[in-house]
Amino acid sequence: MKLPVLYIVIPCYNEQEVLPITAPLFLEKIENLISQGLCAEQSGILFVNDGSKDGTWDIIENLAASNRRYKGIKLSRNRGHQNALLAGLMHAKDYCDVTISIDCDGQDDINAMDEMMRQYNDGCDVVYGVRSKRDTDTFFKRTTAEGFYKFMKFMGVETVFNHADYRLMSKRALEGLAQFKEVNLFLRGTVPLVGYKSTSVYYERNERLAGESKYPFSKMLNLALNGITSLSVKPLRYITTIGLVMAFVSFLFIVWAIVARIMGNTVAGWTSMVGIMALIGGIQLFCLGIIGEYIGKIYSEVKQRPKYIIEKTTDED
Ligand code: UDP
Ligand code: MG
Repeated sequence: MKLPVLYIVIPCYNEQEVLPITAPLFLEKIENLISQGLCAEQSGILFVNDGSKDGTWDIIENLAASNRRYKGIKLSRNRGHQNALLAGLMHAKDYCDVTISIDCDGQDDINAMDEMMRQYNDGCDVVYGVRSKRDTDTFFKRTTAEGFYKFMKFMGVETVFNHADYRLMSKRALEGLAQFKEVNLFLRGTVPLVGYKSTSVYYERNERLAGESKYPFSKMLNLALNGITSLSVKPLRYITTIGLVMAFVSFLFIVWAIVARIMGNTVAGWTSMVGIMALIGGIQLFCLGIIGEYIGKIYSEVKQRPKYIIEKTTDED
């Protein structure tokens, strides 16, 4: 049997503190996988520099010069984690049989890759890395992140619980992913739509080895909102439900108003009137906002702007 060529794909944004620590660990891992006969000798590591403002690209270039297993691509500007990851996956799929995407900060346990490769060699096209516990995350990060998965589910987006973007994908799964042309990316929601046989591998998540999180709460919230509005129309359905309920309640109020008029005590209703008007006004604005969100999505999809532009690669030098 011909061994598969594996590429580990790693998006990096301002990671000069952590890259020198984790890059040798990834190299060691890939050599270990090769020696176990789990992947081919030509396997390697692909870094994607997502428009970093620090010395990340210099580090990647030096790594590529020092060892042929290291490769790098440089995006023309910062496009965000999801786009950077997609750029790496789409680039790697042309010269490898299987990819594993992982963050560059050492938080995800690289030893789970052995099991991922075994599952791949057993016929799985997608293997999700799933966190078994989050002891090392702060209480805030843990509750917001777990709330995120539950909220996504409620909003109609199927994701794998506690799985981020640490996953193995085969070449044909990547080719399937390439056919999803949407500009607003949420890979965790899109990859399950590609289909094929998939499974999960569990691992414990560690603390970042160096540097700071590039995913503050605001970016996480953004990712969640983008995920929901890109993959589900449930919020629009919820609006319809709210509208129906409000219409029913309004009907009851009309009946009440008529009865009150007949009874002759109409002046007393001022407070409830103002209350109802404010409530309905608020709900309408909120619903308009959600609809606007979807119109905004359509707007950016229609423009079909490129998701990333590759400025250069380490192969060119
Ligand atoms: N990242 C990126 N572009 C960005 C933000 C982050 O490529 O605009 C990368 C980052 O370098 C890291 C990964 O995405 O490899 C996850 O980021 P981070 O570890 O900061 O997120 P957290 O683990 O805190 O959610
Ligand atoms: Mg991290």
